[in-house]
Amino acid sequence: MRIDAVSIFPDYLAALDISLIGKARREGIIDLRVHDLRDFAHDRHRTVDDTPYGGGAGMVMKPQPWSEALTHVLDSADETTGPAPVLVVPGPGGERFTQATARELAQAPWLAFACGRYEGIDERVYEWAAERMPVRVVSLGDYVLNGGEVAVLAMVEAIGRLLPGVVGNAESLVEESHEGGLLEYPIYTKPAVWDGGDGVERTVPDVLLGGNHAAIAQWRHEQRLARTAARRPDLLHVAATTQELAGLEHS
Ligand code: SAM
Repeated sequence: MRIDAVSIFPDYLAALDISLIGKARREGIIDLRVHDLRDFAHDRHRTVDDTPYGGGAGMVMKPQPWSEALTHVLDSADETTGPAPVLVVPGPGGERFTQATARELAQAPWLAFACGRYEGIDERVYEWAAERMPVRVVSLGDYVLNGGEVAVLAMVEAIGRLLPGVVGNAESLVEESHEGGLLEYPIYTKPAVWDGGDGVERTVPDVLLGGNHAAIAQWRHEQRLARTAARRPDLLHVAATTQELAGLEHS
């Protein structure tokens, strides 16, 4: 997959050189190109922001550096990418980023991310971009960050780990939280009895030690339901719908 990201803080995205995403880049699974928006500003101070029309607090990102930066990205299309990327613009006013969004975006051969700062990007950039490529404004959650970079780190990691070859054992993706709608069951490793230094022996549930795979599967399913009901009851209807749809497919 090809990914371009435009930011005024390209160093912020250096974390994408580390761990599984970094390895995927070195192996050529992800071709990530980071661009400095200031390279597309032409004044001495490399200005990318200005005061808002209509007044109000803060600064707004100017349209011209954005159109030039995104034109530069569009001009780098090749036979692997198709003509244009899906442009993802992180923003607290966008559609919520979920596992389903990650799965959908993981299908695209080319994604571009536009990291806003200050009060955000001049609205005309969205119109300009939508005439040239699909545009999705995507929110990480109902809170406000200082810039889009943290959102891009999260989104690229969630999308990247779904690409074939990025996570060593593809099966580990199947039973995770938000796959099928439920949260993951509790997990344990050795030792079977652990004293955390407070004299209390904490044990692993017996069912996990018995080797009865059907009983383990049943226990895990019950735990997923219980945990989802306790922590995220809003997800239960998503899980029910997903399972009903799976049932329809198999009938
Ligand atoms: N004035 C904007 C508003 O009220 O919607 C908030 C601007 S915020 C300070 C600056 C940038 O941070 C945004 O342009 C966006 O790139 C990013 N950002 C902030 N919160 C975000 C969120 N919840 N999800 C994704 N990106 C976010």
